[in-house]
Amino acid sequence: MIRLLILGGTGDARKLVQYLADAPSELPATPTLHITVSLAGAVAAPKAYPCRTRIGGFGGVERLAAYLAAERIDAVVDATHPFAAGITANAHAACGQTGTSLLRLLRPAWQPVAGDRWIEAGDLEEAARRLPAGARALLAIGRKEVGVFAGRRDIWCLMRMIDPPSPGQALPPGEVLLARPEAREEAEAALCRRHGLTHVVAKNSGGGWGYAKIAAARALGLPVVMVSRPPEPDGNRVSRAEDVAGWLSRLRAAGS
Ligand code: NAP
Repeated sequence: MIRLLILGGTGDARKLVQYLADAPSELPATPTLHITVSLAGAVAAPKAYPCRTRIGGFGGVERLAAYLAAERIDAVVDATHPFAAGITANAHAACGQTGTSLLRLLRPAWQPVAGDRWIEAGDLEEAARRLPAGARALLAIGRKEVGVFAGRRDIWCLMRMIDPPSPGQALPPGEVLLARPEAREEAEAALCRRHGLTHVVAKNSGGGWGYAKIAAARALGLPVVMVSRPPEPDGNRVSRAEDVAGWLSRLRAAGS
């Protein structure tokens, strides 16, 4: 038995839980697992996971370390978003302190292909500076950080987010769209046309979920201001749920 904590809040974490739930028949070497998924509580009504779920921050590195010890966690899979640098750093530090095995599940970044017009930005502040005056931009960056664009009074933004902005949160000129990303390129293209958008601002999240807007921008010839990922701590890293199962099997073999 391995007591596994999955740090989630992403489609990757959801896919991983499902994969591990289905895996025993496919992968006889996969150990028996007791899985807990942890969510930050960033989304008001997250979809349920088919396993034990805890919601809310741990309260920093020391408290995360204390949680790992109290729950007798054997292994942690950090399946958080590529831009969730805070929890990734905390998990790295807490697992180091407690001697808990840690694996980072990280999807590959998107790469530009023929027809893409990407403007690379090192962070969101740079992305806000890279938009030209008069731009009409889709801000597909979530809710928390749209304020970075608030100083740009010379642009118009369609701010897409799942939950509404916090009361009093500074926003750039524009409109809030409470919606998840569209899965189809055609739907994203129609949204861009409907609002007369000239730019898309996106984090380089990678994966299939948010890619439709990138493909739509390419089809419409729109520039994408693409924000690069923050650096990752050193450590074990894989990109597929299948590789997590293999890592767990090796952990059990090493422990038995
Ligand atoms: P962050 O900056 O790395 O984390 C901020 C704090 O939130 C952490 O210090 C931790 O609080 C808490 N936290 C984050 N993920 C947690 C988890 N899975 N379980 C328990 N506590 C967690 O994270 P963020 O960028 O705000 O993202 C928050 C969540 O949304 C993450 O779980 C991430 O996977 C998901 N998400 C983020 C993005 C994005 O663009 N950043 C996009 C999609 C989904 P304590 O220090 O109190 O423990």
